[in-house]
Amino acid sequence: MRVAVIGSGIGGLLSACLLEEKGFSVDVYEKLPYAGGRFTNISYRGFELSTGALHMVPHGNKGALAKALKKVNADVEIVEPKPEGMFRIKNRNYTVNELPELFSLRDKLSLLRILAELKYGRGGDESFKEWLRKRSKNELFYRIANSFAGWSLSIGIEEISSREYIRITKNVNKLRGPGIPIGGCKAIIDSLLDIVENVFLRKKVDRIIVENGKAIGIEVNGQRKFYDIVVSDVGPKETLKLAGEENFPRSYVSSIRNLKEAEGIKVQIASKKPILEFGGVLFTPEAERVAGLNEVTSVDETIAPKGYHLIQAHAPLKSSDVEREISLVLKDLNNIIKDFKKNCEILLIQVFRKKYPVNRVKQGTSLKFETPIKNLYIVGDGVKASGYMETEGIAKRVLELVEVIS
Ligand SMILES: Cc1cc2nc3c(=O)[nH]c(=O)nc-3n(C[C@H](O)[C@H](O)[C@H](O)COP(=O)(O)OP(=O)(O)OC[C@H]3O[C@@H](n4cnc5c(N)ncnc54)[C@H](O)[C@@H]3O)c2cc1C
Repeated sequence: MRVAVIGSGIGGLLSACLLEEKGFSVDVYEKLPYAGGRFTNISYRGFELSTGALHMVPHGNKGALAKALKKVNADVEIVEPKPEGMFRIKNRNYTVNELPELFSLRDKLSLLRILAELKYGRGGDESFKEWLRKRSKNELFYRIANSFAGWSLSIGIEEISSREYIRITKNVNKLRGPGIPIGGCKAIIDSLLDIVENVFLRKKVDRIIVENGKAIGIEVNGQRKFYDIVVSDVGPKETLKLAGEENFPRSYVSSIRNLKEAEGIKVQIASKKPILEFGGVLFTPEAERVAGLNEVTSVDETIAPKGYHLIQAHAPLKSSDVEREISLVLKDLNNIIKDFKKNCEILLIQVFRKKYPVNRVKQGTSLKFETPIKNLYIVGDGVKASGYMETEGIAKRVLELVEVIS
């Protein structure tokens, strides 16, 4: 069976490797001159800056991505930093276990109840913000939960259901994380490129050929190429355009049009001094925009020139006034990092929105990888599995897809 994969993002490459492992003959088409999409590195003055992801695998060696990588024998090392995360509150860093120190006895009891519900509860359709407000009026609880959602999902807790937030925290409790791939995101992409037979760069797919409700191939540079299966890693909206909206039921078209992206701002910073001094995530609940920072160089020195650290800050995009949003992010960085202007140099500020977002679909929106068109499937961050963040959600769905079609 011949498969065309459109797009060489992590979703496309994982699909290609796992399908090849099952005996399919796979061709990957990528419009850009490099593979990896929003999960690879750009080398700049010796720093390995990422095109998107924060050089982290959400559940380290225990998650779905690690499982998929192991399945195809990808040669990549993922290191799990300790502590995994800390919270910067009132100029001090707290581990999760130290957080109760911040609260009165009454709030401590509420916190214990909330943590128990996060572990054993189910949640529902109401937003996590509403859910939390019913359990406590303490503003700091809200801010802590919001910084986690802002860093991990690039949304606020008013934008996610309590059901989805609780599924995610259950997986964090069970699978832990994050992990850092040595060599950054690109190390994972390179390990997959070593396995996939045919990846064609600078080959933009212009059309998915559909006949009688069935995908039968693709069109590239005016040439028709025929395949048994087409796997699209370009997102639900773009897939619809490539295959022609007229080929889908109206209800499907409107459900795709209504999907909302998660948008964000990332700042990549160089420093000669370590700023965080650990490899996990520093969540910043008191900041106005920045949800957290990481310093991957505390674990992986290969991604910065000798003697330098690479710090990354992430903030969800809260409005379409990008200039103002950037200035609020920079104001936060000045407050969070001591002597920011003196010790740090901003290498790159990236805004992820519209067609190049953080997530093509906000976490918790469930869309199937099957489409109404036979033999056409969607992978990537538009069809993530519920309860699984970022590339974990992508990998989980790709593993399921491969079982379905093989
Ligand atoms: C700021 C930020 C921080 C993040 N942090 C993390 C993190 O730390 N950990 C984590 O796990 N995830 C993180 N993510 C999310 C992660 O980067 C994405 O979920 C993931 O990279 C998406 O992969 P994908 O395969 O769905 O899509 P993409 O990476 O977008 O790949 C799609 C590919 O398709 C190609 N393409 C598009 N159209 C065509 C066409 N017509 N023909 C051929 N090729 C085409 C594109 O060029 C691209 O290469 C982050 C994202 C951002 C933006």
